[in-house]
Amino acid sequence: IALCNVADCVHCRVSQPCRENRTEWLCSSSSRGEDLWVREGKILNPEKLFFDEKGSADVQLDCKGCILAPGFIDVQINGGFGVDFSLATDDFRSGIDLVGQKILSHGVTSFCPTLVTSPPSVYHQILPQIRIRNGGAHGAGILGAHLEGPFISKEKKGAHPEHCIRTFEENAFQDLLATYGSLDCIRIVTLAPEIKRSSEVIQELTKRGICVSLGHSVANLSQAEEAVQHGATFITHLFNAMLPFHHRDPGIVGLLTSDKIPAGRRVFYGMISDGIHTNPAALRIAHRAHPKGMVLVTDAIAGMGLAPGRHTLGQQVVEIDGLNTYIAGTKTLSGSVATMDTCVRHFLEATGCSIETALEAASLHPAQLLGIEDRKGTLNYDSDADFLMLDDSLHVQATYIAGEEVWRRDALGM
Ligand SMILES: [Zn+2]
Repeated sequence: IALCNVADCVHCRVSQPCRENRTEWLCSSSSRGEDLWVREGKILNPEKLFFDEKGSADVQLDCKGCILAPGFIDVQINGGFGVDFSLATDDFRSGIDLVGQKILSHGVTSFCPTLVTSPPSVYHQILPQIRIRNGGAHGAGILGAHLEGPFISKEKKGAHPEHCIRTFEENAFQDLLATYGSLDCIRIVTLAPEIKRSSEVIQELTKRGICVSLGHSVANLSQAEEAVQHGATFITHLFNAMLPFHHRDPGIVGLLTSDKIPAGRRVFYGMISDGIHTNPAALRIAHRAHPKGMVLVTDAIAGMGLAPGRHTLGQQVVEIDGLNTYIAGTKTLSGSVATMDTCVRHFLEATGCSIETALEAASLHPAQLLGIEDRKGTLNYDSDADFLMLDDSLHVQATYIAGEEVWRRDALGM
């Protein structure tokens, strides 16, 4: 497997420099008999090259039967590798860079750094330091922040610090603006729709292209449906931090089969498919009820990629024990330490779904949720050439962003 878009590529064992420094290359997966063409960072329709330009690939590489898949998109990640996105530190940017770099090996090519409920001063300090940017050798692309809270239910606070949780006051949207400081880099806001005046906020956020997600909530189904009718499109870590399914009022979970979703709209739901946060049977229920809405998220905390022990999550201390993470001294789950590729494999195994379905839950669906499926989350022509090479058991072998190899397994001797 190899490909390149530069002269003298060290990875692909192509000894000749690319002709005229052109940037077409071809990656072929011989066992599956399909080719993927890339030019200038985008996936190319080869017909245009063959017939209009009479051109051919500058570099052709054999994928040796690997699966080619769109890069994963993680819309809920609190940190990892010792970095906590909810901690306002002076070297916040180097922290976010480190995580962006490290998640490449897990197949993540874009992500939404996620902040748990925090005091306004923390949002004011951190949010201006989050810059939406394309990915590359420096790390996965940043699609914007996911703010989980502080407008959530105290009853379903999970790992969020209670003293920072807020309600909407008289001028609800202004209140939210004052809390966050700016909406510039915000992509997703998780809130509890049962909070008074949330309808107004959901409409204002939606109007500005910010995705509203329902979570950490005790909402009943009709409150959840009303929120969707006002523009909410996502459910934050389904089953976790919400009312459990009840047949007479299925709560937010009921959105998966609701008949009150406006025509042409789809509700997506985040799923922490780490084998800890959701029982495999519950994962199957969600998947079978609403397969096109499944969005795999890691909800990873600073401890992802670190040894077991004590780590921080925003204002809290958490304890890691294997794949379990708890608020120190309690049995309250607090985010995961699973990586995205682990979640994809667990989802595949737990549901018995097809490989394509498992991959789409981590690529196509999050892209659709964010409305960026024209450039991310697929291998369609003209999309960004963010893609992965995976073996048959979905272990990442190489990661590419905009046609450039940004991580490779054997390069690290792994
Ligand atoms: Zn949460």
